[in-house]
Amino acid sequence: MKALEVHKVPMRIGDAYVESAGEHIDVTDPSSGDVLARVPRSTAGEIDRAVRAARDAYAGWSAVPVVERAHRFFSFAILLEKHKEELARLVATENGKALPDARAEVRRGIELVEFACGMPSLMMGDSLEGIAQGIDSQTIRQPLGVCIGITPFNFPAMVPLWMYPIAIAAGNTFVLKPSPLTPLSALRIAELFYECDFPPGALNVVHGDKDAVEALISHADVRAVSFVGSSNVARHVQALAVEHHKRVQALGGAKNHLIVMPDGVSEATRDAIMSSAFGGAGERCLAGSVVVAVGEAGDALVAMLRDACRGLSLGAALDERAGMGPVISVQAKARIEGYIEEGVRSGFEVVCDGREAATPDPDGTYLGPTLFDRVDPTSKIVREEIFGPVLSVIRAPDLESAVRIANASPYGNAASIFTQSGRAARTFASKVEAGMVGVNIGVAAPMAFFPFGGVKDSLFGDLRIHGKDGVAFYTQQKVTITRW
Ligand code: NAD
Repeated sequence: MKALEVHKVPMRIGDAYVESAGEHIDVTDPSSGDVLARVPRSTAGEIDRAVRAARDAYAGWSAVPVVERAHRFFSFAILLEKHKEELARLVATENGKALPDARAEVRRGIELVEFACGMPSLMMGDSLEGIAQGIDSQTIRQPLGVCIGITPFNFPAMVPLWMYPIAIAAGNTFVLKPSPLTPLSALRIAELFYECDFPPGALNVVHGDKDAVEALISHADVRAVSFVGSSNVARHVQALAVEHHKRVQALGGAKNHLIVMPDGVSEATRDAIMSSAFGGAGERCLAGSVVVAVGEAGDALVAMLRDACRGLSLGAALDERAGMGPVISVQAKARIEGYIEEGVRSGFEVVCDGREAATPDPDGTYLGPTLFDRVDPTSKIVREEIFGPVLSVIRAPDLESAVRIANASPYGNAASIFTQSGRAARTFASKVEAGMVGVNIGVAAPMAFFPFGGVKDSLFGDLRIHGKDGVAFYTQQKVTITRW
C-alpha cells in the first residue's frame, strides 16, 4: 500500500463545494489498497442545508420552460461524452471494475442524459374533447419538488444518472447521496453538470450512510425518494419513506437465474454466461449467479465454463489486459469467501475455486471466478445474494422444473433462457417471475427508454427506474375539466 496525500471529499451544496464538519473515512482503491480520498459523514445540519438549497432552487427551475431545461441536458450529454474516458478511469479506480466494464457503464449513463433531453415529449399529457356535452378534459404532468437519490457502490456513475437527469429535466431539484465506498465519480459528474448552466441548487451532493439517508428521507421538504442498493436496506427505505408520506421507489438485490436448454449449449452461450456472472466481478444486480442446466445440457456446458474460468485473468482495473478486477473491499471479499466455504462444506462440486487464483497485488481485494456444479436449489448459496464472482450450476430435468427453481428465489430481478426454441423461450418469458427477461442474452439490461426494475424482493415500490416509469415517478398528474 502506497502512502498518498489524500484529499477530503467535499459536498456540493448549491453550486459550491463545501467541506463537511463530519467524521471522515477512507475511500480505497480496491486494485491496490491505496487510500484515494477521505469521505465525510455529512452532519444533520449539512443535510438540511443541501435540501434547503434544492428547495430554494425549485421555484425558479420548475418555471424554466421544459424545452430550455432539455437544452441544458443536450450540453450535459455532449460534455459527458467529451469526458467519458476520464470518467471511465475514475469509475474503474474507485470501484475496481475492469476498464471495458467501466466504459460501458459511462456510456449507459450518458444514454440516460440523452433520454432526459426528450422531456418535452415525455412530459406531454392527454386531452379529450367532448367528455360530456361542451366539456373537454386534459391531463398535464408537473414536477414534484425536491427529490433525493441514494445509490450503491457498484455503478458509481450510471445509477445516479438513472435518477437525476430525468428528475431535473422534469423540473424537480435533487439531492444525491452516493455510496461512501465510491463517491468520486458522482461528484466529478456533478461538477460537469454545473458547467452546463444549471442554476445553483438544482443538484446537490451529500455523503454518509444510514444517518444521512434517514435524515434525507424524513426531511419535511423532500417529496420523493429513489433508492438503489441491497434488499434489506431497500425494504427499510421504503417503510421509512411511506411513514413520512414520500413517494418512493427502492430497487433491491438479485439472484438471477440463467436457464440453458440442451439446444442452447454453444460458445456464444458460454461467453454470455461468463460475461453475466463475472463481468464487474459479479458485483452487478443483473449478474447471472445461478445456471440451471436442463436435461443433457449440463456436462458439456460445465466443461466449457470450467475452461473459460481457468482462462479468466485477474488484473488491476486500469490494466487493459485484466479480464476481471478486484471486488470492492476487504469486507466484501471475506463475505464472498464465506459463501465459497459454505458451498464447499455443503459438498457441492467445486469446478473452479476463486480463492486459489493468483493475485496481481497482495494489497488489492482480488478473488478469481468460482464455479460450483450440482448445487442444491434450496441451499444458502442459491437462495442468498452473494454479489461476487461465484456461479452455481443446478441440474434440472426439464424446462418446467427449471422455471420452478428460478421462481423459488425470493428475488425477481432478471432471468434469462438460452435456447433455439421459440416455444421454450415464450413459455419461459411468460412464466418466469422476474422484471427483466433475456432470451439468448446474459445481461437483460433495459436501455434508458425502457423501465428498469424487478419484482418480489428486488423492488420495493411500484414504479421502476427510468423509461416512462421514471417520468411518471418524478411527476404528478393534474386533470383539468373545462366547460366554456
Ligand atoms: P447497500 O444497500 O449497502 O447501500 C446502498 C446505499 O444505501 C448506499 O448509499 C449506502 O450508504 C446506503 N445505506 C447502507 N446501509 C443503510 C441503512 N442501514 N440505512 C439507510 N441507508 C443505508 O448496497 P451496496 O452494497 O452499495 O450495493 C450493492 C447492492 O445493490 C446489491 O444488493 C445489488 O444487487 C444492489 N443493486 C441493485 C440494483 C437494481 O437495479 N436492483 C442495481 C445496483 C445494485
